[in-house]
Amino acid sequence: MLDLTYEPPKPKVIQGAKHDWELVIGLEVHAQVASKAKLFSGASTQFGAEPNSNVAFVDAAMPGMLPVINEFCVEQAVRTGLGLKASINLRSAFDRKNYFYPDLPQGYQISQLYHPIVGEGEVLVDMAPGIARLVRIERIHIEQDAGKSIHDMDPNMSFVDLNRTGVALMEIVSRPDIRGPEEAAAYVVKLRQIMRYLGTCDGNMQNGNLRADVNVSVCRPGDYERYQETQDFSHLGTRCEIKNMNSMRFIQAAIEYEARRQIALIEDGKEVVQETRLYDPDKGETRSMRSKEEAHDYRYFPCPDLLPLEIEQAWVDDIAASLPELPDEKRARFVLDYGMTEYDASVLTADVESAMFFENVARGRDGKTAANWVINELFGRLKKDDLGISESPVSAAQLGAILDLLGRDEISGKIAKDLFEIVWTEGGDPAQIVEDRGMKQVTDTGAIEAAVDEVIAANPGQVEKAKANPKLAGWFVGQVMKATGGKANPKAVNDLVAAKLGL
Ligand code: ADP
Ligand code: MG
Repeated sequence: MLDLTYEPPKPKVIQGAKHDWELVIGLEVHAQVASKAKLFSGASTQFGAEPNSNVAFVDAAMPGMLPVINEFCVEQAVRTGLGLKASINLRSAFDRKNYFYPDLPQGYQISQLYHPIVGEGEVLVDMAPGIARLVRIERIHIEQDAGKSIHDMDPNMSFVDLNRTGVALMEIVSRPDIRGPEEAAAYVVKLRQIMRYLGTCDGNMQNGNLRADVNVSVCRPGDYERYQETQDFSHLGTRCEIKNMNSMRFIQAAIEYEARRQIALIEDGKEVVQETRLYDPDKGETRSMRSKEEAHDYRYFPCPDLLPLEIEQAWVDDIAASLPELPDEKRARFVLDYGMTEYDASVLTADVESAMFFENVARGRDGKTAANWVINELFGRLKKDDLGISESPVSAAQLGAILDLLGRDEISGKIAKDLFEIVWTEGGDPAQIVEDRGMKQVTDTGAIEAAVDEVIAANPGQVEKAKANPKLAGWFVGQVMKATGGKANPKAVNDLVAAKLGL
């Protein structure tokens, strides 16, 4: 059996301050449900459409319009919950979160404050082979997205685009279990990977499919352990929330900056004020958006337009039965089935398409060789041309055929790489190419012997040197390989050279 236990990483200790400080981080991730229609209307969610073209009457909050829940979106939230090993609440309810903003025509956002659809779960955040942090999920609730105000199109006017208004979001709230900037980014990467496996969220951060509010506080060593034992938040420092982060790099930079800002305040005898902050990527700093005193009073109350959401256990069970193999399980199986390292397994399972490609190459062949070729040759080549796995000019069947030729010793490793390049640029059946272009490895000792004799006869000086120093025999092997266009079986050449030189 495999040992699948992981060591937690060490918490990040901030250097350069008077005292040692540790970081405590909790994330609220907003993941857009991969649905063609919005949460409460049939309007399209297509990205990049003409502004205000995907707006149903209910999205624009026309009088008398009523929301109708999109069952597909509910199913994706349940799928996501199950993928995060979370409890599913058969009864949840929608609340109105009231605030005024021009991009929110209703004057409220429909969300789930008191009764979310998904309860507690967990995510294993991989930091290095054998090192991972288990981050607890507090809840996932379903809510609507707001529209977009556009302030940079006209010096005197602002515009609003309601295409996003009413798009379904899943808000995934973590416990404050994340202990460093790298872990925070790795957590988002892992959530995105799981949701992509599940097909519940595209996770495209540039398009705003995935955004995170990052809560940061600092504490002295030992305080976090006291919090863990008691779950009493008073052991932790005051947190600040950095809103709407949509890049892994910015998440890390904002946390670094925020931690140093808070430590400087505390060591200066001042207090950290709980507040919402914004990260400015140009300046590399966070700045206050609103403090707790100015915080919105959202006057949450149950949405009178929607009945509580009741789902059946049998439906949840059906969804659970349809879940795909998830990243952690796939990675563990690759290590076990193919004898590869955990690192290689994590590279090959980073996305479903790569994992599937690899398994098609490995089926009926040596797993380790297949893993090597997919990771080093194929991924390397894809990267060079900036292509994704689904755009690979070499198919799994073609790569498999190259490995078969190699496995049967019909071609050498060097020729296999040349062949790969030919298939990459020209396509075709690898076996046929080898046949047509005479790339087969020469194993016929007669032919190799003749080549060895020729090289020895032509280089009497080198023969003397090699007899005195057997290490120089390699030179002859190289010459013979060259003379045979790289097609001679290297082992046969080695043996013959040694025999002829009497080594
Ligand atoms: P609110 O409803 O005010 O946003 P929550 O209790 O929902 O507050 O917490 C929001 C996020 O803040 C959660 O992800 C939680 O883990 C995180 N969090 C709470 N306390 C701290 C803290 N002291 N340091 C860092 N993160 C925290
Ligand atoms: Mg919150």
